[in-house]
Amino acid sequence: MPKLNSHYGKLQASYLFAEIAKRVEEYSTQNPEKSIIRLGIGDVTEPLPAACVEALKEAADELSKRETFKGYPSYEGYAFLRNPIAQQDFQDLGAEVYADEIFVSDGAKSDTANIQEIFAEDNRIAVPDPVYPVYVDSNVMAGRTGLAESGRYEGLVYLECTPENNYLPELPQEKVDLIYLCFPNNPTGAHISREKLTEWVNYALAENAIIFYDAAYVAFIRDESMPKSIYEIPGARKCAIEFRSFSKNAGFTGTRCAYTVIPKELQVGGKSLHQMWFRRQATKFNGVSYPVQKAAAAVYSEAGQAQVKTLTDFYLGNARIVRESLNGFGLKCTGGDNSPYIWVQVNGASWDFFDKLLHNAGVVCTPGAGFGKCGEGHIRISAFNSRANVLKAMERLQKVF
Ligand SMILES: *Cc1c(COP(=O)(O)O)cnc(C)c1O
Repeated sequence: MPKLNSHYGKLQASYLFAEIAKRVEEYSTQNPEKSIIRLGIGDVTEPLPAACVEALKEAADELSKRETFKGYPSYEGYAFLRNPIAQQDFQDLGAEVYADEIFVSDGAKSDTANIQEIFAEDNRIAVPDPVYPVYVDSNVMAGRTGLAESGRYEGLVYLECTPENNYLPELPQEKVDLIYLCFPNNPTGAHISREKLTEWVNYALAENAIIFYDAAYVAFIRDESMPKSIYEIPGARKCAIEFRSFSKNAGFTGTRCAYTVIPKELQVGGKSLHQMWFRRQATKFNGVSYPVQKAAAAVYSEAGQAQVKTLTDFYLGNARIVRESLNGFGLKCTGGDNSPYIWVQVNGASWDFFDKLLHNAGVVCTPGAGFGKCGEGHIRISAFNSRANVLKAMERLQKVF
């Protein structure tokens, strides 16, 4: 009889979105006349930028002709995409990243989930709390944790993000080998300063740790003093892997394209992580389709850049309306200025607050407790929505508070 991966048995069922759906369903059944506004969505709502759609169509036409047909792409991506990535996302900021250090992929979710594969089982792992669950669950599946107890897995080091530290984790007190950081953060919306990120890079260099830096929300940064890439920090090429995605800047959540940067200098015990990841991708991944890479490359055209700016400005406009309204109701919020998420401090349990918004206003949010222990006492509101929905939701909340 085959034996199963027993580590899957340790995974905590993700009650969060199932429980939200259940409570919304109950409310709808009891109040069929009431309309519901969802402010909990972690997916984009606006269509693809026009430049990307044009590129997709042109690429599809090329595939229709023998002369321009394309078969398997390279594992690491076409040069027409990797070159502008290196130039515009890094070199233009003064960050040293070269095109041949970029691995184009189908998602930052898969890359952040899979990167742990090239590391041994007995590494000590640090994750933020609250956390994007992919970092935790991928390590649970790989057997790097014990059992979960009251929401925390034995063996993981949790970096607490609380109102007291402005949701910026402090350096670990104990020795860790691999550190997941996400800035601008999902779910807290907090972003890290250059000074604080420098502390992390210096820590990693001194302690021989590797930082996995998830910058999926970089397109929302408007404060020019804030770092956009970890490679803007001296020394990061020797201690950090950065993950980017086209999902949140250009609305590629359904189109699928992302990339991961592994500098050639990044080594552990003389072994190149770039080479190991290349080998991993070559074995398990067959690249991103030509039309999708063409569409992603269009993000770097002049028109594409302008359209992405308009798109992210639109969501940030939603975020500002939410933040200002909630502040007006006397609620403390973080995020929403350099991120599409607003993290709201509520008095009491996050699920009680969720119920209050649902029952009194027909507004759905995401209870913070679903993202970890430190998420308790908070809710997440997402700016991914239509302007009309956001305005209507704030109007309803006005009546509640
Ligand atoms: C949305 C998101 C991503 C992007 O994932 P894709 O697979 O590229 O769509 C990565 N990290 C975080 C924290 C996210 O919220």
